Amino acid sequence: MRDKFIRFMYGRYGIDSLGKFTIAAGLITIVLSSFVHWRFLPFISWLCIITAYYRMFSKNIYKRSSENQWYLSKTCKLRAFVSRQKNLFAQRKTHHIYTCPSCRQKIRIPRGKGKIEIRCPKCSTTFIKRS
Ligand SMILES: [Zn+2]
Repeated sequence: MRDKFIRFMYGRYGIDSLGKFTIAAGLITIVLSSFVHWRFLPFISWLCIITAYYRMFSKNIYKRSSENQWYLSKTCKLRAFVSRQKNLFAQRKTHHIYTCPSCRQKIRIPRGKGKIEIRCPKCSTTFIKRS
């Protein structure tokens, strides 16, 4: 069974970021359609799921990968923003992030050091904050 599947997938495109996005969009619209009774919502979710499967089993790898590149380039800024927010959230327990009052440079200070003077590495302005 497993061999059969591997043989079936040989030379096919498989899943990528755009594929994951279309599957997620399909599932979200399916869940949404049970709350919101908008006529086109089930149609959109089926379209997403079918597109995702079509792309997964497609043998035109070049075309699929260029679609994925297009998707990645369109969502580049958004993905960078999300990963930055995640990173900041992960550091919240151990560090404070202050913004320099004169040049807006972000400065990362470890927590629990009491009242300290901070010198901006970019413009050398000093200011006092609790860490
Ligand atoms: Zn500064």
